[in-house]
This record gives sequence, structure tokens and C-alpha cells, in this order.
Amino acid sequence: MLFTFLFAGVILAAVVLKYLVPKRPRCPQCFAIRRADEPLCAGCSWIYDVPGAEDDDYGELEEDDDLPPELR
Ligand SMILES: [Zn+2]
Repeated sequence: MLFTFLFAGVILAAVVLKYLVPKRPRCPQCFAIRRADEPLCAGCSWIYDVPGAEDDDYGELEEDDDLPPELR
């Protein structure tokens, strides 16, 4: 009986932790936790997505980077 309560407590704790602890944004490259409103990752200088800047321009820039310099 005691084990049942213990087991239920563990599950409850897991659910509470999963849903009540706020998700912290992490760097997609080095998985360092992002500090409040940091534009760059402190670990690897990854540029976080800026709200309002996720346009088609970002994809175009990525495609340009794949081209050799003489074709730009
Ligand atoms: Zn990083």
C-alpha cells in the first residue's frame, strides 16, 4: 500500500514538473540555456530567432550562403 502511494507520488511529481516548470529556450546548436532576451548564445554565438524577423528573407539569406562568392 505504501508503495502504491509512493508510485502515485512519483508520477504526480513528474507531471507537475513537466507542465508547471516553464520551458527555457535552448540553443539549437550547443543546447545551452538561453538567458533572458539574449540575441546571441553565450556558448557558441548562435543567433536566436528574433520575433518579427522570421520572414522569407531568412531563407533567402541561407540560400545565398550556399552559393560560391563569384555567383552572388
Ligand atoms: Zn549555443
